[in-house]
Amino acid sequence: MSKSKPDLSRLSPQTRLVAAGRDYSEHGFVNPAVYHGSTVTFPNAAALREPTQKYVYGRRGTPTSRAVEEAVALVEGGYAAKVCPSGLAAISTALLSFLKSGDHLLMVDTVYHPARQFCDTLLKGLGIETTYYDPLIGRGIAQMIRPNTRMVYCESPGSQTMEVQDIPAIAEAARKAGCLVALDNTWSGGFYFNAFAHGCDISIQAGTKYLVGHSDAMMGTVTCSEAAWPEFRAGYEGMGQFAGPDDMYLMLRGIHTLDVRLDRHMQNAIHVAEWLRARPEVDTVLYPALSNAPGHEIWKRDFTGASGLFSVVLKPCAQIAADAFLDRLSLFGMGYSWGGFESLAIPFKPHRTATTWTAEGQGLRFHIGLESPQDLIEDLREGFAALKANA
Ligand SMILES: *Cc1c(COP(=O)(O)O)cnc(C)c1O
Repeated sequence: MSKSKPDLSRLSPQTRLVAAGRDYSEHGFVNPAVYHGSTVTFPNAAALREPTQKYVYGRRGTPTSRAVEEAVALVEGGYAAKVCPSGLAAISTALLSFLKSGDHLLMVDTVYHPARQFCDTLLKGLGIETTYYDPLIGRGIAQMIRPNTRMVYCESPGSQTMEVQDIPAIAEAARKAGCLVALDNTWSGGFYFNAFAHGCDISIQAGTKYLVGHSDAMMGTVTCSEAAWPEFRAGYEGMGQFAGPDDMYLMLRGIHTLDVRLDRHMQNAIHVAEWLRARPEVDTVLYPALSNAPGHEIWKRDFTGASGLFSVVLKPCAQIAADAFLDRLSLFGMGYSWGGFESLAIPFKPHRTATTWTAEGQGLRFHIGLESPQDLIEDLREGFAALKANA
């Protein structure tokens, strides 16, 4: 007799992360194999004509890709998922799968900047029009929906400036008008915000960030509701999307520890953000997990946790002083991307067209890693000393 399989639908999210994708393991090994495969051979001519086997061609799926796709869908609480070689590839593949010439796209003004560029160049060239909207528009989105609006695209919290969107209000208005709602759910890891329970049809992540979680692989994910799935799947397969097996495996591996990593990122980030908020050099801390921070009420209503990414606006100071702050930090690397185990700090100037960013001081985006928050705070203290010395 074999041991029985757990019924995942009855288990808590933490337990599901541990079980995710394990159905594909063999020979008693805990983890599934990494299949490097293009060609799959068929046992005879009849089986080639009328395939009954599970796998027919590398790009159409391997045990490794199926395991990671199932794991992502389980994390997100969606019907099914596909993976792409980067987060941006996931965004572009989702947009191209659902939008056609003549369609109108409502895009949040705080979207990840390369996605904006994709809309303003490639989508525009295909005859797909994009209008940017205020992330805080809520149910007011209804007034912007046109007869040819096919999709409302959200990202919450917004890139760099961290506005928390009222997704249920937007989704209700979109649903009434027959539009799809897509969300870039990267900040929550798909784990602290259930896109589908809040009315979205499509949830996209840069798996590069928290799902992979170790700054070593690039991946993207698109998870869909049952209704949206067939159209997305056709687009994904038609565009020949897939990803490398080792990178898929790294993301599956990351998913098993997502809960503990995110929890520590959150605890550390709250600690560091509270400290930053009390500093005289800091004007505003933009981290919805902090009480009284912008977006806190909606975050508390809709999210079950916060990740380690937030922003800060410094009080106005000379460029050389802000640069000295960043240059002095030794535990905070300066680099794009985030979601790995290490802390990062990077300056930003948001690009907005539907809204105006009025803050006068330098914007800084922090990713708080898994280091001791005490050590991070000491490092930041040194940074502020350098800022002061250059003021
Ligand atoms: C990083 C990021 C992306 C793009 O992911 P890549 O894997 O770098 O292509 C998309 N959306 C958000 C919110 C991101 O932070």
